[in-house]
Amino acid sequence: MAARPAPYLDDLNPAQREAVECLDGPVLMLAGAGTGKTKALTARIVHLLNTGRARPNEILSVTFTNKAAREMKERVGRLLGQAIEGMPWLGTFHSICVKLLRRHAELVGLKSNFTILDTDDQIRLLKQLVQAAGIDDKRWPARQLAGVIDGWKNRALTPDKIPTADAGAYNHRGVELYAQYQERLRQLNAVDFGDLLLHMVVIFQTHPDVLAQYQRWFRYILVDEYQDTNVAQYLWLRLLAGGHKNICCVGDDDQSIYGWRGAEVGNILRFEKDFPGAHVVRLEQNYRSTPHILAAASNVIRGNQGRLGKELWTQAEEGEKLRLIGHWDGEEEARWIGEEIEAMQRGTRGLRAFNLDEIAILVRASHQMRAFEDRFLTIGLPYRVIGGPRFYERMEIRDAMAYFRLVVSPEDDLAFERIVNTPKRGLGDKAQQTIQTTARANGVSLLEGARIAVEDGLIKGKGGAALRTLVEDLRRWGRMAGDKDMTHMELAEIVLDESGYTTMWQNDKTPEAPGRLENLKELVKALENFENLQGFLEHVSLIMDNEQADSEQKVSIMTLHAAKGLEFPAVFLPGWEDGLFPSQRSMDESGVKGLEEERRLAYVGITRAEEVCTISFAANRRVFGQWQSALPSRFVDELPEDHVDVLTPPGLYGGGYGAAAAPVRGTIETRVAEANVYNSPGWKRMQARAGERGVSQPKESRNTVIDLTAVSSFTIGERVFHQKFGYGSVTGIEGDKLEVDFEKAGPKKVVARFISASDD
Ligand code: ATP
Ligand code: MG
Repeated sequence: MAARPAPYLDDLNPAQREAVECLDGPVLMLAGAGTGKTKALTARIVHLLNTGRARPNEILSVTFTNKAAREMKERVGRLLGQAIEGMPWLGTFHSICVKLLRRHAELVGLKSNFTILDTDDQIRLLKQLVQAAGIDDKRWPARQLAGVIDGWKNRALTPDKIPTADAGAYNHRGVELYAQYQERLRQLNAVDFGDLLLHMVVIFQTHPDVLAQYQRWFRYILVDEYQDTNVAQYLWLRLLAGGHKNICCVGDDDQSIYGWRGAEVGNILRFEKDFPGAHVVRLEQNYRSTPHILAAASNVIRGNQGRLGKELWTQAEEGEKLRLIGHWDGEEEARWIGEEIEAMQRGTRGLRAFNLDEIAILVRASHQMRAFEDRFLTIGLPYRVIGGPRFYERMEIRDAMAYFRLVVSPEDDLAFERIVNTPKRGLGDKAQQTIQTTARANGVSLLEGARIAVEDGLIKGKGGAALRTLVEDLRRWGRMAGDKDMTHMELAEIVLDESGYTTMWQNDKTPEAPGRLENLKELVKALENFENLQGFLEHVSLIMDNEQADSEQKVSIMTLHAAKGLEFPAVFLPGWEDGLFPSQRSMDESGVKGLEEERRLAYVGITRAEEVCTISFAANRRVFGQWQSALPSRFVDELPEDHVDVLTPPGLYGGGYGAAAAPVRGTIETRVAEANVYNSPGWKRMQARAGERGVSQPKESRNTVIDLTAVSSFTIGERVFHQKFGYGSVTGIEGDKLEVDFEKAGPKKVVARFISASDD
């Protein structure tokens, strides 16, 4: 078949073209960020189709996310100049393996309609097994076992293949429980995520006929983001490519950021061993970023040991230097970025005018997003959150808000329905129906209906007692809402605590639970900006209504992990503080492995930017409800001075940047700006507030003083004072909560932060 003209080849450089045109045998494209790896991979698919080497359904093409798969499909269609009749095998490892496993499920003892368990289900199942095995799951949480098993699955290890070195896992019971778990899954006709690959590897290894069939079928194999494959994925690929060896992998060792999920950079190095004679293509020209951005990224990543090492160059014009700015606190950082984006839209600050689609904010931890979402809503700046629900759409936030709504308006039936059995109060469908019918019969709200149902003895037993408590609690909290002596933040914490909602997540051992608890703290923090609960709830309902059509231009907010492979003309990288980025966990780890992965994440972040990259940090940040003073990230020190402009935040040194057209710029040393925070309006505001409250303020902020008290200094038996409950003595300490026997109000559990040591 004669090849049609190939415009898709014309805009490739010689090295890329080589990778595209070298169709037979193994090809490894190893190159830095923005060098056109994904572009070349896409062109290769088009070339395979255009030259008639393969039909769309004979190409196996693996991307890292579903979004990337969609984009690649679109691009292939565009480049080919015709709609392709689908590429069923273009997708993520998981999506491809689900399809394959459905066809061959019986080979591993499953039926083709198997269910895929999510993490919650997985943990629940493991917990049952752990308890049945007589293991104390407080000491040995099922979540830990789940981590161990996932680790084995990532390495394609079935229970009978676990190396002796791992025999001690999960208190020497790991292997046995893994075997039981797999058996139980089979009985349930279910798989977990790790199984999708594991089962396929096992099928290919034990059924050569099946393997041979697919080796023939998938004439060409392509893999993007190869540096993030784990051993199981690697084995799967090697098996499939074992016949014709027409496999093309592209990756960048410097962008390996999923080590925590079992990815092994070593797979890149192994490629050349396993596929001898592999054609290795190196790309060095970067087409994405300006020289300053590239230089900064290169300098940061240079701090890592054991890199394959590569130099990048670009023909792009100089452009802007990286911009670095320190702020007083996280809120100011969000406010500044909001203003900066508006200014960029107008095309001031010496930059061209940007539209919102061209701008992204990339955060290290998803809890950082909330400050931006709130700020942008306040100023009406459209945004989208990529790779996760927006803050106020998260389950735990909606639950908590439902409680607040009920406190403010007891007749909010939707809120009542949402939380009546969350946490579990033993109220099944029948009890809930009784509440509904009672409410309807009396023409009252569900809450009132519940009260009547309990009074009349329509709901009995444990559920009835729990419902009575809920009804009474809600009424009590409602009264507290009118209490001038109590802040609405305090009330919110009381509601979440006393309802058992916080405890529910504290007892939850799923991997998501800690994040949900963080989000709840973040929610209480958000309340500070409002006068009362009502004001806050109105704000949020406006937010929820604010959902615009998706065609509108919006700023993108996402995590650094989700940003892999993407690019934006302007990128903001906030929160560059030690403990946040690099994360505390990576800093606590012995050895440099964790820290190096964080550094690669920094490299990924900077290299997403095409024209303008703005890095920021705050001197104070409230993390999980506690104020912490933060130091600029060690990665800030690794930025090369020659390629960085330090911006002075508004208000510092008498201010100037806020309204003025041109930023005050200086050398990297003026990062001391941050050392001078005591001049900032934020600091002065803090002091003024402290003064109003009559708190004596030495050096630190009001919040710091109070938090420090809360965290450490109470002792059992100590006499304390609480604004609402008065005097009492401490009878127990549990994390940041105190059990206090109040002289008037009796025993209560209260948040330490709202307690002060009694002076008398
Ligand atoms: P990452 O490592 O971040 O995934 P990548 O190597 O996959 O990056 P691409 O996303 O494919 O890089 O390309 C980066 C940018 O450079 C894209 O905007 C792409 O269109 C452009 N580009 C790539 N190659 C060329 C080329 N030969 N000529 C012009 N532009 C190119
Ligand atoms: Mg790419």
